[in-house]
Amino acid sequence: MTVSPGIQTTSGNSRPILFIPPMDIAAAEIMAAVFRSIGYDARVLTENAETLAVGLSYTSGGECAPCPSTIGALIAAVQKDNLPPENVVLFMPTACGPCRFGQYSHLTRRIVDKLGWNTMRIMSPSAENSYMGLNTATRIRLWKGVLVADLMRKMLLRIRPYERESGAADNVMNFYLDLITDAMQQKQWRLVPDYMKQATDAFAAIPVRNEKRPLVGVVGEIYVRLNLFLNNDVCRRIEALGGEAAMAPISEWILYTNHLQRIEAKDCRKGFAGMTERLRLAAESEFVFHRYERKFAALTDRLLHDRHEPHISKVIAEGMRYLPWQFQGESILTLGRAALFVKREKARAIVNASPMFCMPGTITTSMFSKIENELNIPVVCNFYDGSGDANQSLVPVMHYLCSEMKQTQHA
Ligand code: SF4
Repeated sequence: MTVSPGIQTTSGNSRPILFIPPMDIAAAEIMAAVFRSIGYDARVLTENAETLAVGLSYTSGGECAPCPSTIGALIAAVQKDNLPPENVVLFMPTACGPCRFGQYSHLTRRIVDKLGWNTMRIMSPSAENSYMGLNTATRIRLWKGVLVADLMRKMLLRIRPYERESGAADNVMNFYLDLITDAMQQKQWRLVPDYMKQATDAFAAIPVRNEKRPLVGVVGEIYVRLNLFLNNDVCRRIEALGGEAAMAPISEWILYTNHLQRIEAKDCRKGFAGMTERLRLAAESEFVFHRYERKFAALTDRLLHDRHEPHISKVIAEGMRYLPWQFQGESILTLGRAALFVKREKARAIVNASPMFCMPGTITTSMFSKIENELNIPVVCNFYDGSGDANQSLVPVMHYLCSEMKQTQHA
C-alpha cells in the first residue's frame, strides 16, 4: 500500500469520503459497504460520457481508457459537491507487471496536485503483496464481497437470457444486492450467506424459456470487461443477439496475484525466511482465499454447479501453453481462461475485451489471431474507449452461431 489514510480527517469531525471506481458496480457497492462498516463515508464513483470527457481533458489521450474514466469520475464528483480535498480519499489499487495500471495512482496524484488538491489522499494497496496494508478482517470482508459479486453476476448471466418476463433477473440481482450491502454495512456478516442462498433460489424460481443459446466466454482486461459504461454492456448485447454470456470473474486476478507470490517465494527466497513466507502464503491461499471461494460457491450450487471457476493453477497452466508465467499481468489469464471456456463450458465464441491502448490487450489480440484455429471457435477482440459501438463486431458472429445452433437442433 503506497498511501495509507487514517479514519480521522484534517477538517472537522466529518468522516473521510472514500471514492471507489465502479469497475463492476456490484463489487464496488459491496466494497463501499465494507468500508462504511469501518467508518468511511464510502461512495461509488459514477462514470459516463461526461465524466470521461472531464478525464480526457486532464490526460494526454494516450492512456488506456480506465485511466481517464476514473480520473474524470473523481474530479467530477469532487467538483459537483465542492468537497474539501482533505476529506477525500480515492481507492485506487495498483499492480506491477508489463502494463500501466501501476501508474494510475501516480498520474492521479499529479493531476489532483495540479488542481491544488494536494491534501487529497489515494489509498493504493498493491497486487505485489496480495493487497496487504488493509487490516486482515477488512481484507477478508472485501474478498468475500468480491466472491459475492462474482457469483451474483454469474447467476444473473445464467438466467437473464432465458427469462420470460423482461427485467425479472435484474430485479432479483438488485433486490439481493441491496440486502447484502445493507448487511455488510451494518456488520451483520452472518446474514450474507443466507442472502446468497435466498438469491440462488430466487434466480432459480424465475420462469424461463426452454431454448438453447450459444455460450460466449468474455475475457480480457479486468476493468473494461466488467464496466458496463466502457464496454457498452457487452453481455447484454450478446444476449440481445441471441447468445448467453459467461464472464471471467474478478476473483481470478486476486487469486492470480496470490499464486504469483507463492511461485516467486519458492523461486527467489531461500532459507528460513523464505520457508516462513511460503508457509504464510500457503495458509492464506488455502484458509482465506480458496476456503471462502468454495464456501460461497457451494451456496449457489443449485444454479452454478457446472459453472464454478477452475482452480487458478489450471487457468495459469492453460495460459502457459502460450506464455511463460514470468510474463506477468493479465495476458496469461485472458488466454488461459479463454481456452478453458471452450474446453470446460463448451463456449462457442470468445470476446476478448480490452480498453483502447491496453498493453496486455494488444498482446492477446495478436496471439488470438494465431490460436483461434487451435480453439476452433471465433474470437472477437474488441477495443473500447467509451465512444462508438465496438460491440457491432459481434453481429455477424452471433448471427452465424445462432443459425448454426438452429440447424443442429433441427437436424
Ligand atoms: S491492463 Fe491494459 S487497460 Fe489495464 S492498466 Fe494495463 S494497459 Fe491499462
